[in-house]
Amino acid sequence: MNIVIHLVKASRSYGTPPVVALESVSFTIARGEFVAITGASGSGKSTLLNLLGGLDHPTSGEVVVDGIHLESAGDRELTLYRRSKIGIVFQFFNLLPSMSVVENVEMPLQLRGDPQRGIRAAAMEMLDQVGMTRRADHFPHQLSGGEMQRAAIARALIHSPSLLLADEPTGNLDSENASQVLEVMAKFASRRTATVIMVTHSDAVAAMADRRIRMMDGRIASDTTH
Ligand code: ADP
Ligand code: MG
Repeated sequence: MNIVIHLVKASRSYGTPPVVALESVSFTIARGEFVAITGASGSGKSTLLNLLGGLDHPTSGEVVVDGIHLESAGDRELTLYRRSKIGIVFQFFNLLPSMSVVENVEMPLQLRGDPQRGIRAAAMEMLDQVGMTRRADHFPHQLSGGEMQRAAIARALIHSPSLLLADEPTGNLDSENASQVLEVMAKFASRRTATVIMVTHSDAVAAMADRRIRMMDGRIASDTTH
């Protein structure tokens, strides 16, 4: 088994007196696995995803992704890590409002410094994969929630990340938009080209994953492979 993620007693607490968001969490995840993370609000799901995405450091313990020790990585190394290896889909989309859909999708390639030639075509190809070709020149405020999230998924995947992190990607959508977004996520996850870790409240979604990790009070309550 090719291990891509290795957590060793990873903990994260906030403030003084400390609020423990994550407490001594250890696990490994293999390359290409599709993992659903579930658990009540406040159980540490977003904290865990933020550590994996290099958006935050653990207070103690190790977070190793693709051999990179994120707990000791500096800002420059983390920025490079996020730009090259990670795609993130957030609950509230986080599209840049002043940019068109296609410009938002191009952003990871622009940040990486790819040659301009080819960037537009790559973004249009990604938009085609999420069924958003006709919305390429629209701005985020002109889109439905489901369309915004599909644009955000295209943006998260355009640089072929080895790890796709999604934090309740359907949490802010009605059921029809949610099912369109899930279809896109499931299509991508089924290709097993990247490791996919998705926080969800939906048992149906969790059932589609290879594995389900349930969080409770900052710890792993159960970890089941389907
Ligand atoms: P979940 O995503 O499962 O709802 P979180 O990881 O967001 O849970 O939060 C876990 C715990 O850590 C909660 O008690 C939350 O209030 C606390 N927490 C999260 N982020 C912060 C922060 N930036 N400052 C203080 N406490 C935080
Ligand atoms: Mg959360």
